[in-house]
Amino acid sequence: MTNHLNKNFQRKERPNFTLEQFVSGIEKGDTTVLSQAITLLESENVSQSKLASTLVSEILQRKLANQKSLRIGITGVPGVGKSTFIESFGYYLAENGHKVAVLAIDPSSQKSGGSILGDKTRMERLVQHPNVFIRPSPSRGTLGGVAKATRESMLLCEAAGFSILLIETVGVGQSEIAVRGMVDFFLLLMLAGAGDELQGIKRGIMEMADALVITKAENENVNEARKAMAEYKNALHLFPSAESGWIPQVEMCSALTNFNIDKVWAMIEGYQNQMMINGYLERNRQQQAKYWLNERIVELLKSSFFGETRISLALKELEKQVINGTISPFLAAEQLVERFIHER
Ligand code: GDP
Repeated sequence: MTNHLNKNFQRKERPNFTLEQFVSGIEKGDTTVLSQAITLLESENVSQSKLASTLVSEILQRKLANQKSLRIGITGVPGVGKSTFIESFGYYLAENGHKVAVLAIDPSSQKSGGSILGDKTRMERLVQHPNVFIRPSPSRGTLGGVAKATRESMLLCEAAGFSILLIETVGVGQSEIAVRGMVDFFLLLMLAGAGDELQGIKRGIMEMADALVITKAENENVNEARKAMAEYKNALHLFPSAESGWIPQVEMCSALTNFNIDKVWAMIEGYQNQMMINGYLERNRQQQAKYWLNERIVELLKSSFFGETRISLALKELEKQVINGTISPFLAAEQLVERFIHER
């Protein structure tokens, strides 16, 4: 049995494949090549990231990425049971013949070097499954950069034959929006009886979810879980209906006993079928591609603007004047952008 995780951690090695070797390795489903290609995507080295961009273009042009894949985002506060759920859910899918890739976006790992989503010790059983590929969150870069790497990693995984992608993130804000913008289905895991505030669940996150699943529903927790389900069903009714026509579902499961894991999959599969028939799946992916185009433009402009020394010096000066009230912040901003555009 191959241990994909070991290969996944060869991040520091310089990739020594040619573009053609990358493409054909990925096409064959070689996870060592896939892993190195993802390392390339995450690289901040200019020549490596150029090669990565060419690779992604090549994959797209040759239409290697599986269009029928299903991208599932999974979120919830730390401790809700995300990794245990992914282990059980991923295993169930893999045992049923699906090829499953698990990716993660963990903003905490960029700030502190430590990560909320944990490390290589997680999902020990899942990682052993031959149908599974697990890649931890990139630990460097801005959220935008990490989101870009993850989105492109998804394409590479799909080209390598992985048909179900599980994108894990942690319930703390911006990263949810990024993940929502790159998946077909967004699953919010919740604890029964913990209270929304305690779980840091903002209405916005609930509104983004296609399903809420109450975790740890076994033994004496089942009654609480049932109560929570009823409450959340009521709460979801108050939200405006989604463009997809999908009504968000509420379920409960236990990753510990595998209770309802099959039901969660049946629900997501039902969504996939319905959205394929009504065309939303494709439409949504097109909208997402447009969204990332715009996001990336904004990000590139921002980094080139703030990255210019003359701009950052002038900005410091203007900040003083704005604080003193000698210039309006709006006028100052306009002046600076004018300078950026015209004095190149
Ligand atoms: P994460 O931080 O959201 O990834 O949560 P973890 O998967 O690490 O789980 C947090 C804790 O909850 C761990 O101690 C797990 O063993 C426990 N846990 C996760 N799923 C279940 C479950 O279905 N039932 C029970 N009883 N405990 C669970």
